[in-house]
Amino acid sequence: MLAKLKLVIFVAVVTVGIAYAARAQDLGPGFHKIKDGIYTFAPDQLTTTCSFVITEAGVVMIDACNSPLDSRRMADAIKKVTDKPIMFLIDTETHSDHTGNHFIFSPPATVINAQGAADGMKKEYNPKRAETLAAKSPEMREALKGEKMIPPHIEYKDRMTINLGERTFELIYLKNAHSFADTAVWMPKERVLFASSAANVRTFINLRPTVVLPDVIASFKLMKSLNPEVVIAGHGEPTSTTIFDEYEGFYNLLMKRVGEMAAQGKSLDEIKKELKMPEYADWQGQDRLSVNIDAAWKVVKK
Ligand SMILES: [Zn+2]
Repeated sequence: MLAKLKLVIFVAVVTVGIAYAARAQDLGPGFHKIKDGIYTFAPDQLTTTCSFVITEAGVVMIDACNSPLDSRRMADAIKKVTDKPIMFLIDTETHSDHTGNHFIFSPPATVINAQGAADGMKKEYNPKRAETLAAKSPEMREALKGEKMIPPHIEYKDRMTINLGERTFELIYLKNAHSFADTAVWMPKERVLFASSAANVRTFINLRPTVVLPDVIASFKLMKSLNPEVVIAGHGEPTSTTIFDEYEGFYNLLMKRVGEMAAQGKSLDEIKKELKMPEYADWQGQDRLSVNIDAAWKVVKK
């Protein structure tokens, strides 16, 4: 009798397992299953990555995806995997390619980011965004229904822990790393790190004037010290801590070169014309070298 019961349980567990795996494959192109119940959606190398994590008590999302069409795909994917509601939506930064589509998930989701996020979003809000996007296609227009800016409901300072169901999410504020408020999300038991856009995958980052390179490098060291197994950057495919080493190497070499040229008496404009980074010729976004030189110049001239 006991053996029979064990067999029934075994069959049930295997069946549920197969159903779960099959569903993961059905989510569509750009979706990755990172670990059980942890999924990311990275449509391509440059487009914003967004993710969702299933817990016994509901879903946690990290970033709200780039276009409203991506966000609708994300919402459909979540429904395929679970019928639980989205409880929290954590922003890793303030820019609209991560935050512009909160309205698709909230309500029910409570939106969270670090202190200064709401002010940052309001400062950068483009009232023409919806109109410009809607002109792209009828599908996009449809996906934009209900569009409005939703600033984070909750802002934390320095650190915050969310315990939901069986999972723990540690939110870590990254100072001057990328936008007006940047958050890394660390899942210690699963060793999965959502790393924000301080480092991406082999792409020159559009560094804003608020970015301070030594703070960026400090954020790499902090994130690396967590010893994550999987790193999900703000843009690009799931990766590892290699990206922190790559970007630290890139910024250090850039600051060294800018420093040497400044010491020779060259102006910022001259440096921008002459400085090359051939070691990184295969990185995407080469037209952003200029703003990277600006960031290095600020450090050198301090
Ligand atoms: Zn950004």
